[in-house]
Amino acid sequence: MSEMDRDAILKEMGITQWVLRDPNGIDGPVIASPPEIPGEPVTQQDEVEASPVSAEVAATEQAESSPGENSGQIVTLGSLRSQVADCTACDLAGSRTHTVFGEGPDQADWMFVGEAPGQQEDLQGKPFVGRAGSLLTQMLLALGLKREQVFIANTLKCRPPNNRDPQPQELKACEQYLLAQIELIQPKVMVALGRFSAQALTGTEQSLSRLRGRVYQYGPAQIPLVVTYHPAYLLRQPADKGKVWSDLLLAHRQLPV
Ligand code: SF4
Repeated sequence: MSEMDRDAILKEMGITQWVLRDPNGIDGPVIASPPEIPGEPVTQQDEVEASPVSAEVAATEQAESSPGENSGQIVTLGSLRSQVADCTACDLAGSRTHTVFGEGPDQADWMFVGEAPGQQEDLQGKPFVGRAGSLLTQMLLALGLKREQVFIANTLKCRPPNNRDPQPQELKACEQYLLAQIELIQPKVMVALGRFSAQALTGTEQSLSRLRGRVYQYGPAQIPLVVTYHPAYLLRQPADKGKVWSDLLLAHRQLPV
């Protein structure tokens, strides 16, 4: 994608103040920031945070209960999708129209993790449809990515009634599926969209504004993880689009050359 094309997409998205045209921008070399020393304060400039113990513990604990580990059977994304479709592990099974497993290539470099299906996602069984989905698609294009090149999933696979917040017991019941997806896909970089996915993947309860702007190393595979706002939030708060763009560029810089 040419810079002119990217500018046009960003302008359409309402992002007019992106200033990260440095040599390490999305067309530049990857920054190989060293991991931070545990215990030292983290700044935005550090970019790569020391592997958060909590995130690793969360991933390890989840791994111990993932469908693949427990069954001893070979799990593929297809078989996992079937398990999710039949899942009744929490009360959301009773109110859903469709489960929303996620979609994308089996071995995508990028993995985006949202929060939970909304009304349209529930009806169509697909993640990120509607206006929020269109905005995400535009952002991907601005990064030079087609939507079908990335894997898009949610923390919860079933819609909470009336789009209420996910409940802790629902997140706990469903986390095994997200972990199994990550294990199977092995993305090169992950982006958590919104507070619930950010907290789930970092293993913390901090606010999104505190979590964003740095890079986490997720799980034993040390997958770079960046946290940013959910596109649905940006529809209500378009002034924060520039922050999301900055986060996406940060994620892009974590890809291997
Ligand atoms: Fe199962 Fe997750 Fe749906 Fe709950 S939200 S029924 S755990 S797939």
